[in-house]
Amino acid sequence: MAAAGGGEELSPPEPARVGRWAGIQQLPQEVANAIAAGEVVENPASVVKELVENSLDAAATRISVDIENGGRDLIRVVDDGQGIPASQLLLALMRHATSKLTAIADLTTISTYGFRGEALASVAAVARVVVVSRESDELAGAMIESGEERLSPVRPVAAAPGTSVEVRELFGNTPARRAFLRTARSESAACLRVVSEAALARPDVRFEVRLGGRKALGTSGQGGLAEAAASVLGRGVASKLVPVERNTGGVLVVGVLGHPSAAHPTRNRLILMVNGRRVQQRSLTAAVEAAYRGLLEVGRHPLAILDIRCDPGLVDVNVHPTKREVRFRDEGAIFEAVQRACWGALRELGPAALAVPTTRGADLPADSGWSGLTAPTNFRVGQSSPLLAEQLPKPDGADALSGAARWRYLGQAHNRYLVVETETGLGLLDQHAAHEKVLYARVLADFESGAESQPSPSQGLLTPILLEVAPELVAGLAGAHALLERAGFDLELFGAATLRCSAVPLGTRLSELDRLLEEVLPEPPDGGTGEAFRRHRLAASVACHSALRFGDEVTREEAEALLRDLSQTPGGITCPHGRPALLMLSGAELLSAFRRR
Ligand code: ADP
Ligand code: MG
Repeated sequence: MAAAGGGEELSPPEPARVGRWAGIQQLPQEVANAIAAGEVVENPASVVKELVENSLDAAATRISVDIENGGRDLIRVVDDGQGIPASQLLLALMRHATSKLTAIADLTTISTYGFRGEALASVAAVARVVVVSRESDELAGAMIESGEERLSPVRPVAAAPGTSVEVRELFGNTPARRAFLRTARSESAACLRVVSEAALARPDVRFEVRLGGRKALGTSGQGGLAEAAASVLGRGVASKLVPVERNTGGVLVVGVLGHPSAAHPTRNRLILMVNGRRVQQRSLTAAVEAAYRGLLEVGRHPLAILDIRCDPGLVDVNVHPTKREVRFRDEGAIFEAVQRACWGALRELGPAALAVPTTRGADLPADSGWSGLTAPTNFRVGQSSPLLAEQLPKPDGADALSGAARWRYLGQAHNRYLVVETETGLGLLDQHAAHEKVLYARVLADFESGAESQPSPSQGLLTPILLEVAPELVAGLAGAHALLERAGFDLELFGAATLRCSAVPLGTRLSELDRLLEEVLPEPPDGGTGEAFRRHRLAASVACHSALRFGDEVTREEAEALLRDLSQTPGGITCPHGRPALLMLSGAELLSAFRRR
């Protein structure tokens, strides 16, 4: 090492202080546990996942889950499974202690969710845990508690057969993790999703979830997948499922697929399992989506609940501590099996369902229960708010259609396109996208004009609409409520899984109300910071479900009003979903097409 040159400026930097050198030593058990726990216990939902999987491994037929304050204050999972003998309760909380595996060879034939023996130890390392358990042939139960540093002795207690695990003060000793928790609402929603997925994987088990004491989910445990799907996703969705069951070269794919009209703006409803274990595997998601190619609009994802069953020896489930990923010996064969099974099932749908959707929102099947409700047709494109022109920045002068004087409306083609003549050429406008764009900007401007101004124009419903929705949407209502109200909705909870809607923004098509709410109610992915996301999402949804559709006839006045509004809307002529809305043919292009030049 070169010697420092003596001058003050040249003195070497202070070495980073990483703590006093104390010699290499084996870490105390609780420190090692807290470090390793980080991999298994990421957030409250991962605790719920591990506890519910333990209950399923214990052959429970009823599992009830309580979450308080997003899991910060309490996570409790109670089951009626086989229980843990009092003599083994201490072991259950120790790392690498499991009843599910004894030799390395067992790893190739694992049929339980757990096998790593680290979940309870991990949770106990980062929270206060109380486990009460009783085997059914014992007269009393036993209890153990994890305290600050060590475990309590095992004590006898009165208890029902089965196991109850209570987790409090989650991450109390790891403030860094605690600080990363999202809002209670988002964490609750994530916990609910974990149990919902388990309930779909195991329709034979009765599940119950309470969030802050309120029932958020309940399945009967008696019915098949369709019944569980109805409880978890809502009755409306359950009527849009097709069964899948197909064996391709020893890979059995079973479950249900959603009708294209049950597609969803997120991948939350793409629930894939391998031998009953929920996985998040890109290649499998891609296989399902590939089967839907051409059936879904851009930005929508299919509903699918599929279990891929194959020889456990061909799958390595021990890839990651959370076991969310697996590795296949022959990934290509699995991909093909999934794609074929999905394609086969989709082919069973009638030709109408398979028709490529030509317009957003118009593909609800006639039997979806909504066809009887016709939307009030008091919509008029010309209803622009007089303030709009002042609120919004002036349009870009280069815009092909800017300036009302520079275009002339020629007519409507195919009830889909508005044909316009400009100084330099001919234009074809997608009437839905153009109108959507105008409405989107208007709703956003309404939001941004501040809380003290008037809420957006609303239309009251003579008979309120009752909508049965998925628990996840009910859970999302609290966070979305203020903004929905501002946009002109009057929406309230009406029973456990029902929403009552008594007003909607002016022009909203009631036949699309269920889809609209599905888009705007879920918690934004980043929870607390999602306000801007919420606004954008709500504006885009209201616009989409109120705008003129492909196929709607418009009068000259309506078309001209729309064109005027559009020319005053900033941001270029694409719809909020990013599709182009205008096709221009320049004079030069026309001349060359007609060989005039
Ligand atoms: P793993 O599930 O990987 O075996 P865990 O730490 O999750 O590890 O659980 C340790 C052991 O405790 C399990 O192997 C099982 O024997 C027992 N156990 C945990 N939860 C339950 C439960 N709800 N019912 C019965 N036994 C349980
Ligand atoms: Mg486990």
